[in-house]
Amino acid sequence: MVDMDKMVSLCKRRGFIFQSSEIYGGTGSCWDYGPLGVELKNNVKRAWWRDNVQNRADMVGLDASILMHSRVWQASGHLDHFTDPMVDCRACQRRFRSDQLDDDLWVHFCDATKGNKFSIPGGEVCKHCGKKRTLCPACGKGELTEPRQFNLMFKTFMGPVEDDAAVTYLRPETAQGIFVNFDNVVQSMRLKLPFGIAQIGKAFRNEITPGNFTFRSREFEQMEIEFFVMPGTDEEWHQKWIDERFAWYPKYGMRKENLRLREHDKDELAHYAKRTADIEYLFPMGWSELEGIANRTDFDLKQHAQFSGKALDYFDEESKQKIVPYVIEPSAGADRGTLAFLVDAYREEEVRGEKRVVLNFHPELAPVKIAVLPLLKKNERIVETARKLTAELRKRWYTVYDDTASIGRLYRRQDEVGTPFCVTVDVQTVGDEKAPADEKVTIRDRNTMQQVRVAFSSVEIVIAKLMDGHWDEIYRDSDWAG
Ligand code: ATP
Repeated sequence: MVDMDKMVSLCKRRGFIFQSSEIYGGTGSCWDYGPLGVELKNNVKRAWWRDNVQNRADMVGLDASILMHSRVWQASGHLDHFTDPMVDCRACQRRFRSDQLDDDLWVHFCDATKGNKFSIPGGEVCKHCGKKRTLCPACGKGELTEPRQFNLMFKTFMGPVEDDAAVTYLRPETAQGIFVNFDNVVQSMRLKLPFGIAQIGKAFRNEITPGNFTFRSREFEQMEIEFFVMPGTDEEWHQKWIDERFAWYPKYGMRKENLRLREHDKDELAHYAKRTADIEYLFPMGWSELEGIANRTDFDLKQHAQFSGKALDYFDEESKQKIVPYVIEPSAGADRGTLAFLVDAYREEEVRGEKRVVLNFHPELAPVKIAVLPLLKKNERIVETARKLTAELRKRWYTVYDDTASIGRLYRRQDEVGTPFCVTVDVQTVGDEKAPADEKVTIRDRNTMQQVRVAFSSVEIVIAKLMDGHWDEIYRDSDWAG
């Protein structure tokens, strides 16, 4: 498993993810996606949208605004309940979530070893003096304050007057935009239960301890589904969604052994939830939540109906009665998902005595699909042919052209950003005074490093097949495999 520092450094070096406002010293809590990162994250979001919205007859999409009426957050319970318990160190002033204090290593100056400094796994006792952590986990010296509840919502003002009447919040989840639009969507689309409304969008949380790269940031993107069902069928639908979402990540190449489900204990459930199961991923810092799938019951629709005075119910033709649907919510993070796909794809291999770093992305997620590489950049015919081919392929797949290094370096560069296929144009392709052009190019597979020689005219058809995972078939049938 790749460690997080290595991942952060690769992401910066190869244009995936940069620290926000880096030239000003950066913020530890927000991240910017670079040229390859934005492609990767867009591909994750696109795959999610296609599978969960466009390919299902029972789902529609929505894009609600980030700023909403402030009453929304009263009704949803976020103003009262969306808090984390915060403690401060009296010596170093650092802040911690008191419910997570046992998750990290703690710094301990041990009396039994003349004050030597140790880092001890959270929750464990010191082997030398038998003490458990009571002081600050970071400096090991200060007492911690009593926990205080801290609301995670970012407060701001709508309009030019900064008074209480103008207070509003940046949404801490996209879900509420779906609930308040329930009636609009049902009426305009004539939906019948069960059906879902999906949304991808930014959410903001003033996390007490952001960290672990993009895993916990203060600005992030969610991919959420609110799936409305008949009360009484909710438990069955909940289980279906847990199974469905759990199978989604391996569909795009994530290793099953790095995924697990974790059921929330009763005392851990959010104020609206009847049951919640998390999909966890084995990140470099350990098993952590990738997606939460909650049974939110009829809590949200009822609350908004009560606070807004507008009915948010559904007329059931069969029983001729108005009912308030129950809702199942699979709530995934686009950034956490992207990070998990990155970590999962990372491989270090040894090839002919040299280290090779590969991002083994599923072709659907890979930021760049094809790199066209001319074998000799001084040969005009090769360069012209390679450029023409790039322009052709680019119409269908994100394709780049690179002639800034030797072929070995170019391959390594593409491996490191996870480009599934490289196409090389060489002297044989265009011909020279010794031999006529064979009008074929070489396609190289990132994972196996095998190569096939393919006629220029069939490159597009072959690549379409390769994108669908048919390398072995093409390799077997190829007239030239080297
Ligand atoms: P955690 O316990 O890690 O704080 P949570 O249980 O509060 O997360 P949810 O409210 O269930 O998270 O949010 C749904 C999803 O949104 C999470 O599974 C995660 O993928 C994403 N998410 C939540 N908070 C953050 C954050 N601060 N940074 C990045 N992604 C986040």
